[in-house]
Amino acid sequence: MPATNGHQASQPSKEIETRLFINGEYVESSNGKTFSLLSPKTHEVVAKVFEASEEDVDRAVAAAKAAQPAWAALTVEQRSACFKKLATLVREHNDELAKLEALSMGKPVSTYIDGHAFSWMFDYYSESGYNVQGTSSLNTPGFVNLTFRQPYGVVGVIIPWNVPLLFFAKKAAPALAVGNTVVLKSSEKAPLASARIGHFIKEAGFPPGVINVVTGFGNVSGSVISHHMDVRALSFTGSTRTGRLIQQASSKSNLKPVFLELGGKSPAIVFEDADLEAAAEATQYSVQTNSGQTCMATSRVYVQDTIAEKFIALFKEKFGPVKVGDPMLQETNHGPQADKVQYENVLKYLEIGKKDGKLILGGNPDSHEDGYFVPPTIFTDTPEDSVIMREEVFGPVVNINIFKTEEEVLAKANNTEYGLYAAVFTKNIDRAMRFAKGLEAGTVGVNCTSPTTGKDTPFGGYKGSGLGREGLHHSLDHFLETNGFPGPC
Ligand code: NAD
Repeated sequence: MPATNGHQASQPSKEIETRLFINGEYVESSNGKTFSLLSPKTHEVVAKVFEASEEDVDRAVAAAKAAQPAWAALTVEQRSACFKKLATLVREHNDELAKLEALSMGKPVSTYIDGHAFSWMFDYYSESGYNVQGTSSLNTPGFVNLTFRQPYGVVGVIIPWNVPLLFFAKKAAPALAVGNTVVLKSSEKAPLASARIGHFIKEAGFPPGVINVVTGFGNVSGSVISHHMDVRALSFTGSTRTGRLIQQASSKSNLKPVFLELGGKSPAIVFEDADLEAAAEATQYSVQTNSGQTCMATSRVYVQDTIAEKFIALFKEKFGPVKVGDPMLQETNHGPQADKVQYENVLKYLEIGKKDGKLILGGNPDSHEDGYFVPPTIFTDTPEDSVIMREEVFGPVVNINIFKTEEEVLAKANNTEYGLYAAVFTKNIDRAMRFAKGLEAGTVGVNCTSPTTGKDTPFGGYKGSGLGREGLHHSLDHFLETNGFPGPC
């Protein structure tokens, strides 16, 4: 296993895959450069990870380009056999992958479902090649007009650190299913599980170059992928700030279509007729899971004045008692924030919340725990224009505000630059429908929040939350060109 920049890799590196996977082989970065991955629990070096250079990305793109025509020429059954084998291998190694994520970004192994989600997606898309259908028309006298759908060629995939393998599969599987090849960049904060997947890709029989996995920072590898002239489409999940840079990179290079799944500031609205137990359970879970580090986290809750006291008490009762601790232990369900940057960012918002709103739970880092732990935190009565009401916190922090009327709360819920997810809790079907239509969000949960979102609903954002919709058949369109073929007949 890898050497480092002249330093010995720390002990765990010897057991952990930290190399790049290019053209069917594991390789060290061309310039030998590595970066240290630190545990968010112990702050120790977990691994020295190879950082892809521009030359490495170029090699990965060239390999993907060379492999694409033969990959697209395979039958759906031939591609499907690789998909199914990969799904099986990853499912079998879910526990090992869980430990890699716990080490790198602190997700508790007890809550880890990413390996299973990965396998589910590769199984689902294994035969999606059959869904690629063109059309024909006879509307032009003397002509038959055919429409074909074809793969773009090389697709770039850039993923975040919060649920790495879910995003790996959500993007790579549909792109591959319809005949594209992929260069995927994992996040520098959680590269280990994605790096390990190369072994399974090889064993599953994917031809060399079909899936390439590189690791590194936005600068160099992310930027090189998004500017690359041979990357013909790009699918990205991450922050709105980076999404903007990626769109600029496209406009400065080959105008590749970019699909952007970005940040959120999701509101949940709880009306007086709602099942308050269920509403409190769903909303608190949404902002607690993954220590609040999910794009869809319900970070703003609006509760009707008549039931506010009761709801807030229920929310506090359910949100408070988490099991903080070592993410490697089964009893832990609340891990640390992923790294120092995330942690300090959340602490900054806690101070803003304390200044602008009323703190009723949490608010201070756990002093008797090592690691970047933030306890479940609730603020109430925070002015709508406070920074904490407008910006994504990405921590276990919620603002609960009180409203009186439908008109008032709809305006407040929509008063955000984001529009990823929203939820409404009510037993009144007419009101639920009015809000499903009126809330400016790609997905509106009715009596449910983010983690319970149905698998077959489209997913994506309004406004600063993104561009395009993902999810099952919705994703296939991202990865297909459309060609018209008029011909005399
Ligand atoms: P990030 O934008 O910092 O990084 C995401 C990825 O982009 C990483 O791999 C990073 O290395 C890369 N990157 C950074 N700068 C780049 C550049 N200039 N060019 C190309 N690539 C670059 O986001 P993050 O901190 O990893 O993830 C958290 C963010 O992701 C949050 O805002 C969260 O809401 C969002 N997110 C959105 C969804 C969704 O489905 N909408 C899901 C999960 C996370």
